[in-house]
Amino acid sequence: MSVSTARRHRCPVCDYAFDETVGAPREGFPAGTRWADIPDDWPCPDCGVRDKVDFEPEPITERSTEEKK
Ligand SMILES: [Zn+2]
Repeated sequence: MSVSTARRHRCPVCDYAFDETVGAPREGFPAGTRWADIPDDWPCPDCGVRDKVDFEPEPITERSTEEKK
């Protein structure tokens, strides 16, 4: 059983990404909530058709030059 160390996890369906530094305050997970602390059956807040276990970890680059869509 491996534990992901990525700080961002993206929904494979709708591109919603959970970022530990941002959390999901509307879902009851304040900023700083660790991915490991999210329940495995937590559904994607955007599309609701995928659960936490379906989210894909995103590698974190030292340079945070990601473009926002
Ligand atoms: Zn989704």
